[in-house]
Amino acid sequence: MTRSIGHFINGAHVEGGSGRFGDVFNPTTGEVQARAALASRKEVEAAVSAAERTFAGWREINPQRRARLLFRFKELVEKDMDNLARLISLEHGKILPDARGDVQRGLEVIEFACGIPHLQKGDYTEGAGPGIDVYSMRQPLGVCAGITPFNFPAMIPMWMFGVAIACGNAFVLKPSEKDPSAPLRLAELMLEAGAPEGLLNVVNGDKEAVDALIEDPRVKAISFVGSSDIAHYIYANGARHGKRVQAFGGAKNHMVILPDADMENAVNQLVGSAYGSAGERCMATPVAVPVGEKTAETLVEMLKPKVESLRIGPSLSEDSDLGPLVTAAHRERVRKYIDLAIEEGQSLVVDGRNFALQGYENGFFMGGTLLDHAKPGHKSYNDEIFGPVLQVVRAKNFEEALALPSDHQYGNGVAIFTRNGDAAREFAWRVNVGMVGVNVPIPVPVAYHTFGGWKRSAFGDTNQHGPEGVRFWTKIKTVTQRWPEDIQGSEFVIPTMG
Ligand code: NAD
Repeated sequence: MTRSIGHFINGAHVEGGSGRFGDVFNPTTGEVQARAALASRKEVEAAVSAAERTFAGWREINPQRRARLLFRFKELVEKDMDNLARLISLEHGKILPDARGDVQRGLEVIEFACGIPHLQKGDYTEGAGPGIDVYSMRQPLGVCAGITPFNFPAMIPMWMFGVAIACGNAFVLKPSEKDPSAPLRLAELMLEAGAPEGLLNVVNGDKEAVDALIEDPRVKAISFVGSSDIAHYIYANGARHGKRVQAFGGAKNHMVILPDADMENAVNQLVGSAYGSAGERCMATPVAVPVGEKTAETLVEMLKPKVESLRIGPSLSEDSDLGPLVTAAHRERVRKYIDLAIEEGQSLVVDGRNFALQGYENGFFMGGTLLDHAKPGHKSYNDEIFGPVLQVVRAKNFEEALALPSDHQYGNGVAIFTRNGDAAREFAWRVNVGMVGVNVPIPVPVAYHTFGGWKRSAFGDTNQHGPEGVRFWTKIKTVTQRWPEDIQGSEFVIPTMG
């Protein structure tokens, strides 16, 4: 009998009751290792009810005590690091050291959240008018929800619930049904750290669960990370239901390489960021933009042997560069994009389509693929592929290189490799993309800064974590107060500072 993975509601594991399940694969072997229950509307409502009850008490607890819960949670996650990484690696397929990075980058947001009392303080103006003081406070929203993708099953949930809970909210998480074990383990650890039951609930599910969260009037805010069409659906539908929504979507990040770049360094960074985690990162670098023919020729020549010699292995291996893709269906989608790129006229420099790992022939493995001469207008360049595929788009000059990421439908991250500070500064200033790296291939900002792309990579106007995250998970109230000693007459004209 295949193991079933249920939900975590009101501080306890509960089995799924809908009778619907999603397969959880082991991407290394290709076997179904468990099935995740897909929650019904009623089950989602039970999670929201638990969160609503808990919120009433949680918001009364002072900010420093709330932060202490996160301190304890951080310690427990650190102790459980190897177990969490193993759970991620077994269900997602990313290699163990990278799975540890997934947990660690989430923990860094928890560390940030431990200091949130400082950011939740309001402003105060003494004597804004005669005998009048004005102050503001940032109050929690209530029940908040997070809907997360398969590719960072620990980091992205922690981005969301860490900040939301520190701000005084209660949370319902709907993680990806493809790799649900790490998020469930995080909820157990939160309880162990002393969270009230019902503070962090996890419901596994698909569209039915997501729609139940969107339509439930008790859910006040939704944070979504996933593909762009669904991000847009959640943004539009959430707003229609009167919710605060931030929805982060897909990506197609470019690395621009100027002729003066240190080529050895640029190539090394590019190979890691294009093929690490089998390209299944929203901040991967699937497009290289060498500037000038000579740079392009050198780049492709240097990339080829490195792509051919990528070490591909079982996800639990410590010494591979990348593991398998998440599902067979996703691998098929990636293969089709490579076929399309060839039809569109791109040159296939390295072909990873037929790679099979000896002893793991049923695993969802794929070799690294390198395509040259991709162009705007090619569908395989316009779309996100999300696999171990790097496309080279040759640019004649700086302006052409700047236009490529700027005009692309996605605008998550971009990088420029150069030794010229002036060119790098100009690029960072003008490029139409939300996160920029200068000689840094994956410019994911640290936890106390803030994460978010532009264009079809993000809908909504506040980013994840950092002070922006605190703004998203709180609402501001501004109080204007006067304590008059004598009775005041009526005022019919709007008070001004004139
Ligand atoms: P996905 O959009 O398929 O799923 C994301 C979440 O939405 C999951 O929880 C899933 O269960 C749910 N979902 C799926 N179909 C739905 C539907 N029809 N209606 C409502 N909800 C639905 O994304 P994925 O494949 O899990 O993750 C990969 C995608 O996420 C890539 O596009 C990647 O670029 C993106 N991503 C973006 C960021 C970012 O910060 N911009 C970060 C990580 C991943």
